[in-house]
Amino acid sequence: MSLNDPSIRVERTGFDEVLGFTIPDRHARGRMVRMGPVLETVLSAHDYPPAIKHLLAEALVLTALMGALLKEEGSQLTLQAQAQGGPVDLLVCDYLDGAVRGYVSHDRELVKAAGTSPRLESLFGEGYLAITFDLASSGERYQGIVPLEGASLTRSCETYFAQSEQVPTLLRVAVRSEGTHCVAGGMLVQHFPEGEEGGERLHAKDDHPEWEHVAVMAGSTRHDELVDADLPLEDLLIHLFHEEREVRVEPLAGLSRGCRCTVEYYQSVLARFPEEQRAEMRDADGTIPVDCAFCSKIIPVRI
Ligand SMILES: [Zn+2]
Repeated sequence: MSLNDPSIRVERTGFDEVLGFTIPDRHARGRMVRMGPVLETVLSAHDYPPAIKHLLAEALVLTALMGALLKEEGSQLTLQAQAQGGPVDLLVCDYLDGAVRGYVSHDRELVKAAGTSPRLESLFGEGYLAITFDLASSGERYQGIVPLEGASLTRSCETYFAQSEQVPTLLRVAVRSEGTHCVAGGMLVQHFPEGEEGGERLHAKDDHPEWEHVAVMAGSTRHDELVDADLPLEDLLIHLFHEEREVRVEPLAGLSRGCRCTVEYYQSVLARFPEEQRAEMRDADGTIPVDCAFCSKIIPVRI
C-alpha cells in the first residue's frame, strides 16, 4: 500500500498512540510509538528541507517515548539541542500530557550544502543536547546534558540515559517520508534489575544477563517494521519477545499536537514587562504581535 493512497487516511489506526510494556521476568519496561498525522501537523508548520524534517521527526518520536515515561499529569519533558557552526542552531521539542510540539531553527543554504542524509555533526556543528524532566507535583526538575555527537540524535539520547540516569536503555527510531506524508516509529526499552525502579540503581549494568537478552531481542527490530502501517505495534512487540513467558502491554495516552501559545499565556508573559516597553512593542492597532515559533504564526495580544 502506498502512503499516497488516499484510503490510508481512514485506515491509519494505531497512529499517534503510545504503548507501554513490561517484561516482568527480565525486569524490563518500555514504550513504543508510531506517529503519523500528529507528526505531519508539526512538520507542516514550517517549510523544512527534507534533512531537517527527518531530524525533527526523529526528535518528536524521542520526545514522545521519553515523555510517556512521565506518570503524573502536568509533568513535562523537554528535549533541546543547541549548537553552533552547523546548519542547525536550535531544536526544541516538548511533551506535556500527550501533547507534543517542536521546531528547528536552521540555515537553509547550509542545510543544502550538508547533503541529503547528513551525520549529526554535519547538522549541528558543535553543540549539546539537554533533556529535562519537570515533575508536576513535587516541582522537581531533572536535567541531563550530553554532547551532540555520534550517529544520531537517538544515540545522544541513549548516552543521556547511560550517563545521567545510569539506566541501561535501548532506543530505536525510524522515519519514512514520502512527499508530504511522514510516518515515524520508535521503541525505548530499559532495565531495572530487581525492581529497582525509583530507588537507587547500584546494580544497573549493561552486561546483566537479563538485560543482554532483552537488548539483543529489542535491537533486532528493523526500521521498516517500526514504520510499517500494516504491522500493529502490539504484533511487533509479540514478534520481538515471543520467547518470553509474559509481556504485559498497556495502551498509554494518545498523542496530539499541542501548543501553549494562547493569548492568555502571552498576556501573562507581557504583563511582566514595564508598560514603556510594551508601548514600544505595540502595533498601530494597539496589539502586540507575538511570534510562536512552534506554530509559525503571529498572535496579536492586547494588553
Ligand atoms: Zn504555538
